[in-house]
Amino acid sequence: PAGTGYVMTKTSSPIPPDISAAFERQAARVVDRRRNYGLAERRADLARLSEVITANEAAIVAALAEDFDKPETEVILTEIIPVQQDIKHARRHLGRWMRPARAAPSLATFGTSARVRPEARGVCLIVAPWNYPFSLALGPLVSCLAAGNAAILKPSEMTPATSALIARLIAEAFPPDLVTVCEGAVEVSQALLALPFDHIFFTGSPAVGKIVMAAAAKTLASVTLELGGKSPTIIGPDADLKRAADWVVFGKFANAGQTCIAPDHLYVHASVKEEFTDLLRARIGKAFGDDGASPALASIVNAKHAERLGGLLTDARDKGAEVTLGGSRDGVRVAPTLLEAIMPEMEIDREEIFGPILPILPFEDLTQVIAQINARPKPLSLYIFDKDRSRIDRIIAETSSGSVGVNLTMIQFIHHGLPFGGVNNSGIGNAHGRYGFRAFSHERAVLSNYFSALPLIFPPYTGRVKRLIGL
Ligand code: NAD
Repeated sequence: PAGTGYVMTKTSSPIPPDISAAFERQAARVVDRRRNYGLAERRADLARLSEVITANEAAIVAALAEDFDKPETEVILTEIIPVQQDIKHARRHLGRWMRPARAAPSLATFGTSARVRPEARGVCLIVAPWNYPFSLALGPLVSCLAAGNAAILKPSEMTPATSALIARLIAEAFPPDLVTVCEGAVEVSQALLALPFDHIFFTGSPAVGKIVMAAAAKTLASVTLELGGKSPTIIGPDADLKRAADWVVFGKFANAGQTCIAPDHLYVHASVKEEFTDLLRARIGKAFGDDGASPALASIVNAKHAERLGGLLTDARDKGAEVTLGGSRDGVRVAPTLLEAIMPEMEIDREEIFGPILPILPFEDLTQVIAQINARPKPLSLYIFDKDRSRIDRIIAETSSGSVGVNLTMIQFIHHGLPFGGVNNSGIGNAHGRYGFRAFSHERAVLSNYFSALPLIFPPYTGRVKRLIGL
């Protein structure tokens, strides 16, 4: 766009004028924001975001109920509270995060002063998925604003009520030259990706993550990719089985399994398999009733995804898997399901399940489980239930994943001191707290020479320089 210093790349299809205008408005104010968007302004904007969320809690609950029958308690616990907590944490620590860090001088730069200055990247694009459509759109926005950037937000088209609500709340809270929402599906996403953003923060599937990274390569925009994959869970021979069943049922069936860090499948030590499966069955019954028709269980987001899950079940059954609980589907309602006798040729053993179906794979030899995990793309999370510390340490040391949960599931997501992100196929870069702030900041090295240090290095090179470098 003219005068903004942002260079457009050539695209195969023209970018809709409203989308490029939204970008240009934000790009035109980058320098102004560098001058004037300091700690007080950023803290005030975060407070404003918090206020509109508080004032619209009922509307958020209603939008998520409309989109996929998400239970009210889950909306509050997993969509509203995490964003409010992120805001609170960022407002409290932002002053410290923004402060340039001093770096000690080395011998070669003696007499200079070194600082690392976190700076706003500029104009950022946030592309959000449908599964936690509110918190995964607004959580990254908290870090983006804390770091002093403008943002265009693209919510998922699969959750239209939440997308429309986010557009309304953002328009209420912010001027469009700071934050604006572009609603729509793949075409809108691709039009946005053709613009020369300074940073792209994408949450979604690994397949689309590759498209995003390829688009970012055209302008060399930096990226944070929060992706997914099959997160394995190991139930060791010394696990507290009752507690493990509580955590697995919570992690797998919250949001009806449509969670990037949900336990995807279980490796259960053969010596405890029967007992653990019975406990799981009982725990699922207690949580959701025997037929899984409970309002405590969300629906699958749409018919296409429900059919995908139905397809995974049929394929597994046809190839010999045994359904030991559930297995039924009524439209977008899929009952909590336990599957056994899993074989590698089944689709369910290859694809991220992203629904309330839990394959159980008994094991005797941990070495084989570790080999199976390492034979696949690195997962977003790995969960281990056991009491034997050396076994736990061994699993952590011999595998790789975005995060690890020991004797728990999911709540590593809400720990503000931990980075949240994947590794390779499950993602690049981190979100949350200070890590999110850093994702949206450029760490600029500033080395200053106020004392006329280092005259020795200028030519002509005298014997002194040569002696210094050992010639
Ligand atoms: P998705 O990749 O299909 O879509 C995500 C976003 O990308 C949406 O806004 C969509 O409109 C857009 N999009 C889709 N196709 C596109 C294309 N061809 N070009 C450009 N943009 C496109 O993901 P989803 O189905 O919404 O979410 C589920 C996936 O997200 C799962 O793999 C899950 O594990 C992952 N996920 C990861 C995290 C995390 O924090 N790491 C969180 C939630 C979900």
